[in-house]
Amino acid sequence: MISLKACKSCRSISEGAKCPRCGGETSREWQGYLVVIDPEKSEIARKMGIHAAGRYALRVK
Ligand SMILES: [Zn+2]
Repeated sequence: MISLKACKSCRSISEGAKCPRCGGETSREWQGYLVVIDPEKSEIARKMGIHAAGRYALRVK
């Protein structure tokens, strides 16, 4: 079973120990799941400061 991890700095979800997007540290302790397809049109993405499409965690510990 693959355990997904979320980046502590940009909240991007990945499977590695380091974030493929920003190179930041990832954590297994995260909650919520957000798929951003079009960050320009997503109000949640704008509020969270997301500028790229992808999968994100809502909360990362
Ligand atoms: Zn990151």
